[in-house]
Amino acid sequence: MAEDATGGADADDERGRADDGPAKTDPTDAFDALGDGTRLTIVEALADHRRRNWEWVGLSFSDLRKAVGVRDAGRFNYHLDELRDTFVVKEGDEYVATTAAMEVAGAVRAGTYTESRRFREELDRACPACGSGLVAEYRRGTLLVTCPDHGTVFANSVPGGAVADRDPSTVLALADMKARHDLERARRGACVHCWGDVSTTMPAEPPESESEQVFARLSCADCGMVFCVPAAACVVEHPAVVAFYYDRGVDIRDRSYLDLEFLTAENGVVVSEDPVRVRVDVELDDDRLELLLDGAASVVKVAGP
Ligand SMILES: [Zn+2]
Ligand SMILES: [Zn+2]
Repeated sequence: MAEDATGGADADDERGRADDGPAKTDPTDAFDALGDGTRLTIVEALADHRRRNWEWVGLSFSDLRKAVGVRDAGRFNYHLDELRDTFVVKEGDEYVATTAAMEVAGAVRAGTYTESRRFREELDRACPACGSGLVAEYRRGTLLVTCPDHGTVFANSVPGGAVADRDPSTVLALADMKARHDLERARRGACVHCWGDVSTTMPAEPPESESEQVFARLSCADCGMVFCVPAAACVVEHPAVVAFYYDRGVDIRDRSYLDLEFLTAENGVVVSEDPVRVRVDVELDDDRLELLLDGAASVVKVAGP
């Protein structure tokens, strides 16, 4: 790897390495590299360029330096070099933001690292179990929906930037969308935290289970993530359920989890233990769809109205 002699402050050429070095394996190196305002600005400038171009493209040394606004080429090159490999790679004459850079820049933009706002507001919604008014509370990146009698009925993360200018019901809709995506991704075998291998087992023993409730347990073999959902939550995206709603004039994707009447912990009955079969009923407009799920919470049989 060639390291050119230091040029004058006005030299606009690139004096970095000719190729990307070996992959770094210590994550603390990456956090060290980001601990500087100029470097974060470089990451943002390259990420901004890639956001506007779906292709794998970057900026030349001189364009990047102009975008970041550093006059001293030597000093700029030092900072750029600190980001190399993990956050920035060189392709021909261009510097390109890596996926790690895109994720960091996206999280900064989304307000993940800065607190914008807190709120606590009563929602125009009733607890599905008891009918009490629900309360939405947002703090430190998490939206909690609580019932005065049942505690937390829903929780998910929403970054601060997404909350700054939105009303609580819109924030709830965002959290709801994220919950659906998270569950769908985990159901398809990819952890929502680490993309590791997730398996689903049912029936599961959740921490505070009441006797008649049937839960599915999703667990990641790589990071240890575990969460339990009612059996009925595993059928929301099933084509038969989507079509059942669609045929009755409802796009189920527009319905909040909190507005799906069938999505309760009580909707699920173990009808066979070997092999495991759990029955979930979906009802709408006096019609009923019956679904039979196996021990991995996959639908194995559908009986229509
Ligand atoms: Zn309640
Ligand atoms: Zn994981």
